[in-house]
Amino acid sequence: MSDKIGPSGQGVKRGKSDASPRAASAKRPARAATRRPARPRRVKIPYSEEEITEIFRRFSVQRPEPVSELAYTNPFTLLVAVVLSAQATDAGVNKATRELFRVADNAAAMAALGEDAIREHIRTIGLYRNKAKNVAALAGTLVAQHGGQVPGERAALEALPGVGRKTASVVLNVAFGEETLAVDTHIFRIGNRLKLAPGATPEAVEQGLLRIIPPPYRRHAHHWLILHGRYVCKARKPDCEACVIADLCKAEIKTNDVPAPLHPIP
Ligand code: SF4
Repeated sequence: MSDKIGPSGQGVKRGKSDASPRAASAKRPARAATRRPARPRRVKIPYSEEEITEIFRRFSVQRPEPVSELAYTNPFTLLVAVVLSAQATDAGVNKATRELFRVADNAAAMAALGEDAIREHIRTIGLYRNKAKNVAALAGTLVAQHGGQVPGERAALEALPGVGRKTASVVLNVAFGEETLAVDTHIFRIGNRLKLAPGATPEAVEQGLLRIIPPPYRRHAHHWLILHGRYVCKARKPDCEACVIADLCKAEIKTNDVPAPLHPIP
């Protein structure tokens, strides 16, 4: 978008009105035509590399092998559960999918079940009409275009009905072991509250976190942050007394500086 809009609403060509073509070309930067898109601005954060490493080391001691709290048995049921989990609790989704996955735990069976029957199974979940439509459509697409299998590439996942960046990131992380980070409400809050990755959008927080999380911890950071946000650094009242990173945390809201004892959570 190189043109400006003038007061009349007409486009105003840059340089045309105030200089001869020669003068305009003399003023033009030599590399303007090959200018790269601007990189996201790096935000300075109040943590040293050692402090960040220590934060994730402690999370790794608490939960060496964190798992999703959504119930699933294979990549397909994981994908469906994540699609259904938007604006719903994991417990609510698990309750609804128990019977749904008993009758349809693969794309072909789900496509055969059809939108109306899927809707009946998930009536207790918010936005169930739209979600039923998406689950039926994505099952049909998997059968038609992917041999009934869940693809392991982001572009193919995001092309499925009802699947956005966040859902694709969860599936890539949990089912395919990729070092993705799906920013949900908990991770968004932690990124901003702790000033680990301040950002106005989930994408900005995602990029900020991926930039600072040390490589050995990237695979599980997604779950550690979600679970820390869900059970300790809660939205309304963080439980700082129970927090293993209370000494390192730079959140203004924190009420305690003494870290809770560090041990694996059963
Ligand atoms: S000290 Fe409090 S605010 Fe900081 S991470 Fe822990 S629970 Fe959250």
